[in-house]
Parts: sequence; C-alpha cells; structure tokens
Amino acid sequence: ISVLLGLFVGVLTTLASGYILNMRLQPGREILSGIKRNQFYVVWQPVVESGKLRVTGAEALLRWKHPQAGAIPPDAFIGYAEAQDLIVPLTRHLFKLIAADATTLQTVLPPGAKLGVNIAPGHMHAPSFKDDVLRFLASLPHGYFQLVFEITERDMLKETEAASLFDWIHQQGIEIAIDDFGTGHSALIYLEKFTLDFLKIDRGFINAIGTETVTSPVLDAVLTLANKLNMTTVAEGVETPEQAKWLRARGVNYLQGYLFSYPLTVRELVIWQRNRVLPEE
Ligand code: C2E
Ligand code: MG
Ligand code: MG
Ligand code: MG
Repeated sequence: ISVLLGLFVGVLTTLASGYILNMRLQPGREILSGIKRNQFYVVWQPVVESGKLRVTGAEALLRWKHPQAGAIPPDAFIGYAEAQDLIVPLTRHLFKLIAADATTLQTVLPPGAKLGVNIAPGHMHAPSFKDDVLRFLASLPHGYFQLVFEITERDMLKETEAASLFDWIHQQGIEIAIDDFGTGHSALIYLEKFTLDFLKIDRGFINAIGTETVTSPVLDAVLTLANKLNMTTVAEGVETPEQAKWLRARGVNYLQGYLFSYPLTVRELVIWQRNRVLPEE
C-alpha cells in the first residue's frame, strides 16, 4: 500500500509541477483569477525578542492555494507578479488580507507589536504606492500596530533614488527593514545613506551556526557592523536552541524561525500563543 501511495504522491507531484510549468505561459491571468477567487491567504510567523523570548511581532507571508497545483510558495509567484505588472493588485490584496486579520491579531500580539510586510520594489515605484499605503494604514486599528516594510538587500541595491521614498515611509510612522541581509552584493553604502531601522540577517548565515567549528567571518562582520551603525538586528531561520543561544550572546535583538513557530494562519496563531510555555527566568 505504501508503495502505491508513494507512486500516487509521485504522480501528483509531477502533475503539480507540470501545471506550474504550464502556468509560466499565463501566470498573469492565473494570479488575477486567484485574487478574484480568494485563493491567496496570509500566514504569520512570530518574531520573539532574544532575551525573554516574548513575542514582539509577526511577519506576514503570502500563500497561494491553487486548486490544481496546491500550495504554491511565494518564491514561485512573486517574481511573475512583478514581471507581469501584477504586483500592485497582488499587494493591495495582501493589504486587505492583513487588515482582515487585524482584529484577531490584536488578541495575540501586544500593543505596539511589529507587523512585517514584504514590499516588492515594483510596487514602491508604482504611481499608486503612496495611496495604497495610506489606504492600508487607514484600514488597520488606529495606533495599535507598528508596521515594518521589509525590502530585500538585492532590491535595495536598485534603490538609488529611494531616499525620499524611504523618508516618506518614515513620515507615515512605518519602519523599514533590510531583508535577507548578506545575500545581495553588499549594500553597505546604503546602510550609511538611508535610515534603516532593522537588519534581518539571512537564514543562510544562521544555518551555519553550530554546524561549523568556526563562525562565518561574514556573519561576524555583519553583527559588528550592525552594532556600530546602531541598527536593530533580527535573525531569520532560527531552527535550533544552540543557534538562539549563540545569537542572543552576540547581541542579536530579535529571533524568527521554525524553533519558535512555522508561519501560521491567524487562527493557528491564537492556538499557538495560548499553548505556548515560556522558559523559566
Ligand atoms: P523572507 O521575507 O525572507 O521570509 C522568510 C522565509 O523564510 C519564509 O519563506 C519563511 O517561511 C521561511 N522561514 C522562516 N523560518 C524558517 C526556518 O526556521 N527555516 C527555514 N528553512 N525557513 C524558514 P516563504 O514564506 O516561502 O517566503 C519566501 C520569500 O517570499 C520571503 O522571504 C519574501 O521575500 C517573499 N514573500 C513572501 N510573502 C510575500 C509578500 O506578501 N510580498 C512580497 N513582495 N514578497 C513576499
Ligand atoms: Mg521578509
Ligand atoms: Mg527575510
Ligand atoms: Mg529570506
């Protein structure tokens, strides 16, 4: 039976990936109809402070529950959405999904909790960006959450003209994080040029902690740099207690990863928070 099951799963997987390949021909239409048919949803991954491990916020991550292909991860559609000029409708939809979760989120997250939202550069440069953001802000419970826009280091590099846009974002009371730090081709110059609030260290560096006898010299340099620039640091992809301990000892401020929680729907998040046992102080 397990062989048959294996075969069945194998065939399904092949069909699914075939479907995803086919989608490359018309991903645009698929995304738009996916929005209309409510196939996108948001999962939340808690972020904890590294000392007492209390939850201080969560990152919104988009999911696509495709009727044929199943759960499609964001890496497989965000790029298409950008290329097809669909990132604006998709992000507007994301904003609505986030706003719909907000009331329940308030029962889980403390006042001032940070909500991380990934922003694609294609949207930042769209003419409607400021209006979209203002509408999003107005749709959230007034003054409860602190929004943090996450922009990847790779995208940040293209943002030579972004200084005034970043200023505008800050004027709206929104913070900015440089995401996946360490995977771009060094945006060091931008760290001085822009005021960035958070530095999210890519999980590639976190992975290596505890598996190697020597710490990555790059990670070491990144932590020293963040410290010198007075930036608040977040480690993503924390999977083991050893990694958490190491990062805490090195002064990393916030931790995020499977060790604490997988990304969860808002309902699952409520249950997770209720059942959570914090270590004794
Ligand atoms: P990201 O912003 O760096 O998000 C973190 C990714 O790492 C998420 O993958 C998350 O599920 C995964 N992750 C978290 N903890 C762990 C861990 O302990 N171990 C491992 N192996 N992985 C972990 P996900 O949800 O597949 O998202 C991938 C990327 O897609 C995100 O990377 C982000 O750049 C992009 N993305 C996701 N949602 C959105 C969105 O709404 N808008 C835009 N523009 N991009 C999005
Ligand atoms: Mg992110
Ligand atoms: Mg990240
Ligand atoms: Mg990442």
